[in-house]
Amino acid sequence: MARIKNFSNIINNVFVIHDTMFPVYIIRGQKKILVDCSILSKGPRIEEILENILQDDKINTVLLTHSHYDHTGACAYLQATHNFEILASQRTREILQNPKAIEFIDKLNQGFFRILGQDSKTHVTMPENIVTVHEGDKIPVSPSQWLQVYETPGHSRCSLSFLLQPENILFPGDAAGIIEKDRTIKPLFLSSYTQYIASIKKLSGLDAEILALPHNMIIKGRKKIQAFFRRALVEAQKLKDKIFHELQINTDSNAIAEKLLAKEYSFPTVDGPREAQLINLSAMVKSIYFELVKTVE
Ligand SMILES: [Zn+2]
Repeated sequence: MARIKNFSNIINNVFVIHDTMFPVYIIRGQKKILVDCSILSKGPRIEEILENILQDDKINTVLLTHSHYDHTGACAYLQATHNFEILASQRTREILQNPKAIEFIDKLNQGFFRILGQDSKTHVTMPENIVTVHEGDKIPVSPSQWLQVYETPGHSRCSLSFLLQPENILFPGDAAGIIEKDRTIKPLFLSSYTQYIASIKKLSGLDAEILALPHNMIIKGRKKIQAFFRRALVEAQKLKDKIFHELQINTDSNAIAEKLLAKEYSFPTVDGPREAQLINLSAMVKSIYFELVKTVE
């Protein structure tokens, strides 16, 4: 049987490690950079493929788009070998330095071992050496290549996006939601609907050439990327309307989350633990309640 290549070169010195759910991106400049860290159960595979891509080099820097369990799960695991610094928002740093948050990130990662039918021998531990970056910061890769930092809250309070220059490759994390393999878009305004909409508009204005999404796929070409952002806005507005409607009948966010999960909303490919899906939905209900319902009462 032919071996399927487990990583590709996207453009110049930018690589992607293929994964059905969690592609991870590597920029191999003077600095060797990894964008996000996937889940813990993928750690050993990522490590093995990194060896192929980097040869004798190690990852120097990890950029975290946000603190969620499926972006930070393998962080400390990979750091044990690569000893990298982590660049993240102030809020992500606070979360990753909180033992209770690490426990929770571990719990969801253990859930993923079960979903994948794997035995877990490891646990998520606290990563070290986290340096904060902010809107407008430039992260040098090589003398003529750098990443521009944008604060893009709304998916989470801690969300950052990174734009690789001069190639114009955008790493938005989950700031614009998740696009499934069947191309449906799942909105994810977990911390603030209003900020989420503003962040999508901000990202859309960057005119990226390649959109390196952390789940399922890469979108290439300005027009396709613009279309993706437009649809992401429409889908977010649609879900907002549904939640708004439910909130007129009942303000119990958990009950609405259960109802939405059963009827209209599922994550067929990024098939996280049910608990994580309910947490996400009930967070979106709360955001609509506090931003759009409670204010007019
Ligand atoms: Zn997320």
